[in-house]
Amino acid sequence: MKALLLEDVRKISIKDHPEPTEKDDHVICKVNAVGICGSDLHYYSEGGIGTTCVGKGFVPGHEFSAILLEAIPEMNLEEGEHIAVDPAKPCFECKWCKKGYENLCPYVEFIGAPPFNGAMAQYVSIKKHQIHKIPNHFTPQTVVLLETLGVALHAVDLSKTKFHQEICILGSGPVGLCILKILKNMGTKSIHVVDPIQYRVQHALNNGADKGFGSVDEFIEYNNGSGVDLVFEATNSPHGLNLSIQASNIGGNIIVVGIPDGDGYQFKASEARRRGISIKFSRRMGEVYERTISMVEKGLVSLDDLATHTYSLNDGEQAFLNNLDYKDNVLKSIIFPNT
Ligand SMILES: [Zn+2]
Ligand SMILES: [Zn+2]
Repeated sequence: MKALLLEDVRKISIKDHPEPTEKDDHVICKVNAVGICGSDLHYYSEGGIGTTCVGKGFVPGHEFSAILLEAIPEMNLEEGEHIAVDPAKPCFECKWCKKGYENLCPYVEFIGAPPFNGAMAQYVSIKKHQIHKIPNHFTPQTVVLLETLGVALHAVDLSKTKFHQEICILGSGPVGLCILKILKNMGTKSIHVVDPIQYRVQHALNNGADKGFGSVDEFIEYNNGSGVDLVFEATNSPHGLNLSIQASNIGGNIIVVGIPDGDGYQFKASEARRRGISIKFSRRMGEVYERTISMVEKGLVSLDDLATHTYSLNDGEQAFLNNLDYKDNVLKSIIFPNT
């Protein structure tokens, strides 16, 4: 089969790759569509995230929709059915899984996170428990973005957002925008969005943000010198945490969902300490897929506006480059490996 391989830092090749082999309790599916995530961009531009290195010849891709090649009667799924896939296979047996931290399982096999090859290929092998049935009318783009919505939903769950709260979101990429889309259903008082990239701020305003800003300084000036009680950090910037602290009130809460370039944050300890700020890191998601599907089905959240660009597998490298350069108002780029 054809696959997109990360060969080295900023080096992609499209070539023949062995098809996945049959395994117990797994099915082989055809990949319908696969999104480029911020983490994939880190793998491409930095060769990894922290101690996780992609090495040579790694297939990325964890946000995807697939087509079943055979029916699974016990799950009421037919041959050829379009499905959503949760990329995570936690062990469900370790003490962390048993405590409810499946999203942090040290033994997780995560499709598209090294060393487990991902879905930027024509076929992928998935475990049956990863499959989620979806309504017929969901587009491939929507199904890809369910993963992004799940990451956002997990962050919102951790935030314990209060009714009629004032909130600031730093970063108006797909995750920040999904957080905004969820919060719009939660009776917030106001949602401020900060992003240095103007078209992304505009997209947040189109999705109901109350006010958009190019910097945290602008936001604080507008807010009469004060911050807010809840900040979501959804940027890729090493300054994101410090900016979140600046945007927080005394006693404020910060949920960090972004992954910083260079795997490090620097922040003013005195600022964070004097304000008694609580910082919570959010990673991937728990068992939230069914909720994301229901939210979209009921029309609480729509996702297709985030899918700005589509590519064939052969144009995969261009997709990564355009995304890194924020070309052509890109939000989410989606690759169709079988077209
Ligand atoms: Zn992702
Ligand atoms: Zn586990």
